[in-house]
Amino acid sequence: MGGAPAPQPLPTSVGNKDSYSRVATGLPFIALTFDDGPHPQHTPRLLDILKQRNVKATFYVVATNARRYPEIMRRIVAEGHEIGNHTVTHGNLAKMSEAGVRQELTAAHEAIVATTGVAPRTMRPPYGAITASQKAWIRHDFGYPTIMWSVDPEDWKKPGASVVTSRLVSGATPGGILLVHDIHSSTIDAMPSTVDQLLGRGLKFVTVTQLIAMDGRG
Ligand SMILES: [Zn+2]
Repeated sequence: MGGAPAPQPLPTSVGNKDSYSRVATGLPFIALTFDDGPHPQHTPRLLDILKQRNVKATFYVVATNARRYPEIMRRIVAEGHEIGNHTVTHGNLAKMSEAGVRQELTAAHEAIVATTGVAPRTMRPPYGAITASQKAWIRHDFGYPTIMWSVDPEDWKKPGASVVTSRLVSGATPGGILLVHDIHSSTIDAMPSTVDQLLGRGLKFVTVTQLIAMDGRG
């Protein structure tokens, strides 16, 4: 088997499925996930918004950005959020060799540990592109379940903050996983109203691993 070895020691595996797009629970919890950062301006502004509301989120960071902005990485962790693995080059894993995927995940894992001291416990494939067999061996070798999503407002198309908010609010249900990107100013603009409306509906925000722990409960 070529490529870099899996990181040692392996993290404790989260959940018992290879992949989650949502969690089966009637409990009023959801996970808000932010991909592709950290961004030098947008991520700190987002962190302020979340902190004001005591809301915890999960950040699927790209390792090149993690290395570039280690202070923001440390702030994310210090404020109680979770960090997940979103690779180094943001390529299409489904089209890569096993050795290539292993290299992407190992290098990103190590960049997150190097900047924060905390090991990521889940991964999200760029573009959601991943095969069933990749999900299985990634879970076995890295301990990562693959995290997809239940609500995608397509914020990267920049439909405007109010549209992003309405899509997230209308799509969110208990156990849901919401996908947005903290590299777009308009997405950050959408967050105060989104979070406030969801809190107003009685939904509570938890990290992805906290949500997975509720799978099959309630
Ligand atoms: Zn991405």
